[in-house]
Amino acid sequence: MTLKIARFLAEHQPATPCLVFDVDQAEENFRALQRALPVARIYYAVKANPAAPVLERLVRLGSCFDAASIEEIESCLAAGAQAEAISFGNTIKKAGAIARAYAHGVGMYAFDSAEELAKLARHAPGAAVYCRIMVANAGADWPLSRKFGTTVERARELMLQARGLGLDPMGLSFHVGSQQTSTASYEAAIAKVAMLFTDLHDAGVKLRMMNLGGGFPTRYRDEVPGIAAFADAIGAALARAFGNALPDIVIEPGRCIVGDAGVVASEVVLVSQRDPADPVRWVYLDIGRFGGLAETEGEAIKYRIATPHDGTATGPVSIAGPTCDGADILYEKSNYRLPLALTTGDRVELHATGAYVTTYASQAFNGFTPLKEHYI
Ligand SMILES: *Cc1c(COP(=O)(O)O)cnc(C)c1O
Repeated sequence: MTLKIARFLAEHQPATPCLVFDVDQAEENFRALQRALPVARIYYAVKANPAAPVLERLVRLGSCFDAASIEEIESCLAAGAQAEAISFGNTIKKAGAIARAYAHGVGMYAFDSAEELAKLARHAPGAAVYCRIMVANAGADWPLSRKFGTTVERARELMLQARGLGLDPMGLSFHVGSQQTSTASYEAAIAKVAMLFTDLHDAGVKLRMMNLGGGFPTRYRDEVPGIAAFADAIGAALARAFGNALPDIVIEPGRCIVGDAGVVASEVVLVSQRDPADPVRWVYLDIGRFGGLAETEGEAIKYRIATPHDGTATGPVSIAGPTCDGADILYEKSNYRLPLALTTGDRVELHATGAYVTTYASQAFNGFTPLKEHYI
């Protein structure tokens, strides 16, 4: 947690649950990534945290934006982004949304199927398009599954088709899965996708952009490789694949820009020893899966939890949210331990909750007020 957040929490004791987000930390993360990977142009993945203060700061820093919907595109424009600096990166777009993005002058569009390509040709004639290729997501704590991307072979056909439809087939993209902890995943993906650059070049389609997607991790409970390790692996893989003829390189980081810039403050609603014979206590917080912590599904993302009793004796716990839904459990199998002194009414902090939390919060499930947000 940053000093600024600690001071804000101490001085304001804001009502919980709430997210306190240090915009300067997001700037710091952006700059660190830019320094580590100077060949790449950063398209911030808006869905990680679309709050206006975040977008406005990134606009000032010269960031481009990866948007998934017309609403995200219009948030970027409202924050001062140029339309040409926005990529419509969702491979699944409503026709009306494509038309509106095109009217705004949005620069580029993702696709991974012939059907979507036809929609783009119709509603964004002549637009620059890039094809998303499915790559292995091993090593990712939050994989993106088989929902997106196509094969290299199919991408080749689609890129040729794009040209025939009057579109501008500019490049290729992939995503190695979110909270990716293996640098090798980028190396493998770059090698795989780069082959198609050569192949299409021979077929007369000269691609000029490779989009490496997002995936760079934030530190949660466990250590992760630093950004320098990813930059080294990516740099070496690009050199192997392209030598000096490097195309424009795009990255779409979300989590690693905003993740550790936010802290959720929460109140302990109840600590109970449900079975006297079982040493595991149940700790119920005033935020759970439906309050914004959706990435605890399958206990995939393991947040660090700080309490006022840290440093004292701990015992095993299961941790759950406050709602009447049986699925509203954060951690049962991940060997969480919290202080034995933890009790009802204590304030706790969930660290590195700046990404993928506010937007996952439900409207008012069980009547609970949606997560409050403070950008400082
Ligand atoms: C979600 C998403 C990202 C951001 O991923 P992170 O793991 O948060 O960096 C980037 N690109 C696309 C297409 C996405 O859907």
